[in-house]
Amino acid sequence: MEKFIPLSVPNLKGNELKYVTEAITSEWVSTGGSMINRFEEDMATYLGADAAVACQSGTAGLHLSLLTAGVGPEDEVLVPTLTFIAAVNPVTYVGAKPVFLDCDDSLCLDPDKLEAFCRNECMLEHGVLINKQTHRPIKALVVVHVFGNMADMERIMLVAETYGLIVIEDATEALGTYYTAGKYNGKFAGTIGHFGVYSFNGNKIITTGGGGMLVARNKQQLQYAKYLSTQAKDDEIQFIHHEIGYNYRMTNLQAALGVAQLEQLEDFIAVKHENYEVYKQEISDVNGVSLLPFRSGIRPNYWFYSLFIENTQHSKLTRTELLERFSKNNIQTRPIWGLIHQQQPYKCFQQYNIEEAEYYYERILNIPCSSNLKTEEVQRVVACLKNA
Ligand SMILES: *Cc1c(COP(=O)(O)O)cnc(C)c1O
Repeated sequence: MEKFIPLSVPNLKGNELKYVTEAITSEWVSTGGSMINRFEEDMATYLGADAAVACQSGTAGLHLSLLTAGVGPEDEVLVPTLTFIAAVNPVTYVGAKPVFLDCDDSLCLDPDKLEAFCRNECMLEHGVLINKQTHRPIKALVVVHVFGNMADMERIMLVAETYGLIVIEDATEALGTYYTAGKYNGKFAGTIGHFGVYSFNGNKIITTGGGGMLVARNKQQLQYAKYLSTQAKDDEIQFIHHEIGYNYRMTNLQAALGVAQLEQLEDFIAVKHENYEVYKQEISDVNGVSLLPFRSGIRPNYWFYSLFIENTQHSKLTRTELLERFSKNNIQTRPIWGLIHQQQPYKCFQQYNIEEAEYYYERILNIPCSSNLKTEEVQRVVACLKNA
C-alpha cells in the first residue's frame, strides 16, 4: 500500500520547537507569559487590526463575540446552514435562536437571500429587525468564509447596515484571505464586520494544537471580550467579579506555537496556491469534475480544495464512489459537512429557502491540501481521480 495522504495536517518545521522550549525554560506555560502578548501583537500587525485577543479555540472566540455583542435569550441570529457546526453552536450557548440561510456559488452566505429574508420576512421597528414569524428581534449575523474563500462582504455589510445587524465574521478557515479590489481592498477576512474570529485547530492553515483569536472593530468591546475570557476579574488581588466570566484564555505554550506558525503563514499560502494550480491544470480535462474557484477580487489563503462533481447521468462518477476509490488508495478526502439545519439539535429552527447548500452538499469532495503536500502527492491524487 502506498503512503497515506491525509486531507489536512499540521506543518511544524519552523521555530515551533525553539519558541515552545523558550516558554518551557521560562516556566510560563499557563495563561500568562510573553508569548501570548507577542502572538496577539503579531496577529494584529499581520491583519492590520488595532489589537487582537487570544483564546482557547475559535468556538470560544465566537462565544465571546456573541456575549460581547449582547446577544441573549430573547434574540435570534442569522447563520448559514453550510458550515462547520461550531459557527452555530455558540448561538445556543447564549440562549439565542438561529435562523438558517442559504449559500451562493462561493459556498458562503448568499447576500440576495439574506436581503430578501430581511425585507420580506422581517420588519424594522425602532431600528430593530423583528422576525414576523416569531416576533423576536434579530440581533446579529454570523458570516462564515468557507474553505478560505471570502463571503461577499460588500453586499452583506450593506444589508447589515440597512437592518441594524451586528456582523460576526467566522474567519476560522480564512486567515490570510483578503480583498485585492473594491470597497474593502486590502482588508482581511475577519476585519470587516464588528467581530472577527480565527481558529488554530489542528487542521487549520496555522495551528497551535487548539486555539483562537478575536478581533473587533470597537476597542472597548475587544477589551470586554478579554475580560470575559479571563474569569471577569474586577480586582485581581481581592478576587472581585461583577460578571460571570469564562476560562477561555490561550496558554503561553499554545501561543509559542502560534508565533512560530504565523511566521510561516505566507509561505504556507504560497505552497497551497501552487498545489491548487497544479490540481486545477491536471483536473481541467477530467469529464464532469472541476476544482471550485475562489471569488475574484480577493487573495484567498487556499485552505481547502473542493472538487466539484457533476452528478449528471452522463458522468460515471458519484461523490461517494470517488471517496471510496480515494480511500482504497490511501488518500483521505471528505465531503462537505452535514448541513446544520438538518442536524438533530437544529431541525426545529427556522430556515429560509435553502437550495444551493443542498445542491453543493451532494457534489463536493475536499481533497488533500496540507501545506507540506508534495507535487508527487498531488500527482498521485490526480492519477487516482483519472483512473476511472
Ligand atoms: C474550525 C472551525 C470553527 C471552530 O474552531 P475551533 O478552534 O475548532 O473551535 C468554527 N467555525 C468554522 C467554520 C470552522 O471551520
